[in-house]
Amino acid sequence: MTHTNYRVLKSGIMIDSALYSENTVKNAISIFSGDVHVTAEKKSHQWHIHFESKNPSDLKKAIDFFNTELVKLKISEIKTEQMRQSTIKGNRFMFVINHKCNNNCLHCAESENRSNPEPSAVEIKKTLEDVLVDGFSDVFFSGGEPTLRKDIIELVGFAKSRGYRVLLFTNGRKFSGTAFAEHMASAGLYSVVIPLHSHIPEVHDRVTSVRGSYKETMQGICNCLEKNILVNIKIIPTKLNYISLPETVEFIGKNFKGSRIIFDMLHIGGNALRNESRISVKRSKTAKYLEKALDFAIDKNLDVTVESFPLCLIERKYWGCIRNSRIVVSAYKKSLSETRIGGEGQILAEKCSVCSVKDRCPGTWESYFKRYGDSELKPLVS
Ligand code: SF4
Repeated sequence: MTHTNYRVLKSGIMIDSALYSENTVKNAISIFSGDVHVTAEKKSHQWHIHFESKNPSDLKKAIDFFNTELVKLKISEIKTEQMRQSTIKGNRFMFVINHKCNNNCLHCAESENRSNPEPSAVEIKKTLEDVLVDGFSDVFFSGGEPTLRKDIIELVGFAKSRGYRVLLFTNGRKFSGTAFAEHMASAGLYSVVIPLHSHIPEVHDRVTSVRGSYKETMQGICNCLEKNILVNIKIIPTKLNYISLPETVEFIGKNFKGSRIIFDMLHIGGNALRNESRISVKRSKTAKYLEKALDFAIDKNLDVTVESFPLCLIERKYWGCIRNSRIVVSAYKKSLSETRIGGEGQILAEKCSVCSVKDRCPGTWESYFKRYGDSELKPLVS
């Protein structure tokens, strides 16, 4: 295995610093053992790695070593990054197991990662064993679209056999096949989260960019319910669906009895950033329709939750539906004591520091505040 992004100098190599991080270079130096003094210096987008030795054959060995080792380290860096995208929420391990998807949603925040390599079944199983030691009871497989993995049934079965409660974030299309739903249920799948972008087929398909996806997702939800897999239906308000949120909730209440409804707010990244003018709508504009949808849900005794919606934008009587998951995002393998507020997750704005409910408010996605600022927030003073 050799890398192609380097130039051999008289006594060292020169590599592209956009491709190789300082960490990778330092790691390579730290594991190199030879009678050669190695130094690295970054000069205008290039790493200059210098070798000093009296013996020319040692210099050649050093060049060969870095030529292969940097590539290996780069691959392991990609894998580490892949794991980093997995997160821990409370006692739940959120595990990103692939990046491909058969939808291309207008607001997909993962669209940038489609071509990233996916972990092998062996790596996934090993990680599940490692995380089990950390005391996690739930594993939440996510993607991409995790059902596109050929080994998904095996992975669900493996996780279940290790004592996990297994949850899956999916667009639900694969579950439109009765046999697939049956196999996933038998393997031990406990619950799914399936986004429904609207009760109107054309709107749902416009969001997913796949004609016919609505029909498959509908069938998938029915099949999951039939196989006693707990169904959470996720609705993300966008410019295309926010006015009809109450009707969508009414539709779910009538057609998918026993399912739960989760409202989550748009994260402005990936496709959502590219399609921002088509889909993004301010939280304050959404509030009136969200409240009507909640009225219906509460009236019909539906199980409904709202995530990443600032409390000050919605009437107090709905606050019981709002979940604060702001404090529970941490990178894979960090201990729970290292959990942090903010980062790439949900945050409060500067203005919130004077608000009397700041400790129980979820705030919203950081990307939203970056885009729209905090002018619509109204800090509460008790
Ligand atoms: S001002 Fe900030 S902390 Fe207070 S309710 Fe609004 S978003 Fe939440």
